[in-house]
Amino acid sequence: MSATIDSDTAWDAFARRDRAFDGRFVVAVRSTHIYCKPSCAARRPRREHVAFLPDAAAAQAAGYRACRRCLPDSVARDRAAVIAAAALLAADAPPPLAALAAGVDYAPHHFHRLFHRLTGVTPAAYARTCRADRVLAALRASDGVTAAIYAAGYGAPSRFYADAARLGMTPQAAAAGGAGETLHWVRLAAPPGPLLLAASARGWSRFAFDEDVDEDGAALRAAFPAATLLRGDAAFRARATARVGRAAAVPADAALPLAIRNIAFRTLLHAQGNPD
Ligand SMILES: [Zn+2]
Repeated sequence: MSATIDSDTAWDAFARRDRAFDGRFVVAVRSTHIYCKPSCAARRPRREHVAFLPDAAAAQAAGYRACRRCLPDSVARDRAAVIAAAALLAADAPPPLAALAAGVDYAPHHFHRLFHRLTGVTPAAYARTCRADRVLAALRASDGVTAAIYAAGYGAPSRFYADAARLGMTPQAAAAGGAGETLHWVRLAAPPGPLLLAASARGWSRFAFDEDVDEDGAALRAAFPAATLLRGDAAFRARATARVGRAAAVPADAALPLAIRNIAFRTLLHAQGNPD
């Protein structure tokens, strides 16, 4: 049982089948040797027949079997919900939290906590990184900044400019391939894979992973073909390493697909602000 939930609160939540408590404890029914989520639709046993336990593992250790109706072994289900939601968050027009949670059959508050627990970032922050990725892609593909704003799915310029701040240069400069900009870069190991970090005088510019990453910065050259690229010196590497270390300290579910962990990790890197 979670330290923050007493047994009366747990019983009340169980009695009203409150989904917001799913994942916070399980209900073990002594008369049937089955354990359930608080929201289980099954008929309620008498209170003296139940025990409230912290999670499925504790119930199994105590000899209980998972209910086939509410499927309380929710780890796989939770992960599947986060994966499904992450795909929606990467879309041009991600749904608001309530719709996102409803789409994967969770209560909004519970789903927000679940997403944060598994990815290390909030759904909104995750969506923002996806948008920022689209901003750079649109700036590279479109004819000018105004066209890019709409190509990236923005209805108005203000949010576009806010997200474009992650480029480490103005959208105009990014659209011009980084002309006039100098980027220092370094390649580091990170939990989701090899990582390339770059920074301009304005701050951290771009973080790239796996297939994007190579030894000579070609991925950065492709993103900013007109910029001056310089390998970071020891001091730059130390700053970048510290930044990666802070992001790596945030717990996340290592069993999530790499693409999701990649976006979440870059979100954590950006969340540290600019510059160091
Ligand atoms: Zn059940």
